[in-house]
Amino acid sequence: MPHVSFEHIVKKYGEVTVLDGLNLAIEDGDFLVLLGPSGCGKSTLLNLIAGLNEMTSGRIMIGDRDVSELDPKDRGLAMVFQSYALYPTKTVRGNLKFGLAASKLPNEEIDRRITWASELLQLDQLMNRKPAQLSGGQRQRVAIGRALVKHADVLLFDEPLSNLDAKLRTEMRMEIKKLHDALNPTIVYVTHDQIEAMTMATKIAVMNGGEIQQFGTPDDVYESPANLFVAGFIGTPQMNLLRATLRASDNRLMAVLADDIAVDLGGYPFKAAPSDGAEVILGLRPEHFSTPGRPEENAACVLERPVEVIERTGSDTIVSLSFGEKLLALRAAPDEAATLSSGDRVAVSYPKNKLNLFDAHSGLRL
Ligand code: ADP
Ligand code: MG
Repeated sequence: MPHVSFEHIVKKYGEVTVLDGLNLAIEDGDFLVLLGPSGCGKSTLLNLIAGLNEMTSGRIMIGDRDVSELDPKDRGLAMVFQSYALYPTKTVRGNLKFGLAASKLPNEEIDRRITWASELLQLDQLMNRKPAQLSGGQRQRVAIGRALVKHADVLLFDEPLSNLDAKLRTEMRMEIKKLHDALNPTIVYVTHDQIEAMTMATKIAVMNGGEIQQFGTPDDVYESPANLFVAGFIGTPQMNLLRATLRASDNRLMAVLADDIAVDLGGYPFKAAPSDGAEVILGLRPEHFSTPGRPEENAACVLERPVEVIERTGSDTIVSLSFGEKLLALRAAPDEAATLSSGDRVAVSYPKNKLNLFDAHSGLRL
């Protein structure tokens, strides 16, 4: 399976620039997720790779081949659409077979591939049904099967799970991941769902406004978001983002929050030396706070605040403390949060090694 790379891809519609000079390279067998809010250009990029739409400028390589000018059918790709795009009058077998109609393969090879895909995707009992006689998940499996039988070098998926209910979506997510683990195809997968991205991807490209905001492994983008957009987009509840001012004195570096609360930045892996007085945004993930009421020594800071809202989700409880104009969300174990009620003052601490710091002006990670 070949690597895929894009070089300086630009797509304009008239005066409007939808993709603004994207560069990216993924390895053989990578599962790349293009993640971003609706309208950020994910489908546009996928369609350019597929050859369904024309680039304004740039180059797309698949393996050692420049496919930029090639017909979709000559690019060695197979695509799974959100709408499935199955033929309603054909059976499951007919739909799988249709993917190979133009291939001129011998009949035995076509049958062999259809059997292989139908067993892999557990479609073997459904081969004679029409799409209308299938559930949403089964239709989605047929659409994936139709892509698989092509033995394409690269599989493209455009929001393939967004028409499914939550339970089925979780199941299909697991199936696609298992499929990738078993066959290791190179995949480019578009979604706006951060959970899909975090669970399936080997690499995530976070997109916004036609630009790639960050490219890295799921751990990279979660643990070290490159800027405020990525920090706010990935993680539920969202990372708490608080304004602060940097203070350097007596060889100690602090971020000073509202009410003169000092956050110890000792040991923070700055990319560039920060200056005294710089305006920064401090990023605190809800799950890294200490248990409410039990702050830890040696933490970056201790915050004592009144409880404003308590939300039980079942597996954990989100406790929001009031913090000036804002709320500070923390994730707590249900048993530990059970004794809290709104209005209680609780103290929590935050560990030094989980701090995120951003430049308040550029939004970039410090
Ligand atoms: P996504 O898949 O991330 O939701 P799209 O790639 O579909 O976003 O669209 C990106 C942007 O390009 C949107 O602002 C959309 O309105 C615009 N766009 C898409 N197709 C066209 C078109 N044919 N003409 C003009 N603008 C378009
Ligand atoms: Mg789209």
